[in-house]
Amino acid sequence: MDKALLIGGIVSLSTVDYPDNIAFVIFLQGCSWRCKYCHNKHLQSIELSQSLPWVEILNLLETRKGFVDGVVFSGGEPLIQDILPVAMREVKNMGFKIGLHTGGSLPNMLAKVIPLVDWVGFDVKNVFEEYEEITGVANSGQMALQSLRMLIESNVNFEVRITMHESLNTTKIIDLLKDLSYMGVRTVALQKCRNKDEIVIEHPIFSDKILLEDISKYFDNLFIR
Ligand code: SF4
Repeated sequence: MDKALLIGGIVSLSTVDYPDNIAFVIFLQGCSWRCKYCHNKHLQSIELSQSLPWVEILNLLETRKGFVDGVVFSGGEPLIQDILPVAMREVKNMGFKIGLHTGGSLPNMLAKVIPLVDWVGFDVKNVFEEYEEITGVANSGQMALQSLRMLIESNVNFEVRITMHESLNTTKIIDLLKDLSYMGVRTVALQKCRNKDEIVIEHPIFSDKILLEDISKYFDNLFIR
């Protein structure tokens, strides 16, 4: 690979980043959004003084064959690095499944990697008209919506993840979940939000069992994590 992939970190064995698979996770550097609850702020800047060398990652992956099912490209926002499809292809050719964690900020890049990925964890931040409230970036909702539609129309297996931040009130959540269901999303994970000290901030929706039961009917799978 001529151009360097900027890698902010790795997890060499994960059971939580790719459903039903043992994964090796690569955290790519850079993100153009600035979500108010971001836990990976160190990965936001595209500048990185010392990236882990790609060749070392490939060597490490060689030793993981047979132990790891898939490699997840996470971030930051992996789509921001235009060398991503080349890296994915190299890893796929080694026999690993390919996972992607994305918020869909760059639909054109998503279109390039969809033929390579086996599973996507797609972060939805808010009702699409009000994305900027979370990401701090104008038109981010339009980009995300375009990407999500593309994913739904593809044959790629995916789940939508929603971080249940306090600024998403229950009415908004219900509107969003109805929209997602109507669009064709079948699997959703509602993720508990943590503050900077890693303490869970419980969203009121989690204590409303009747409401949870009701919204679970919109999907084939609704997880809380
Ligand atoms: S999209 Fe993800 S990495 Fe980027 S700012 Fe938001 S939470 Fe952080």
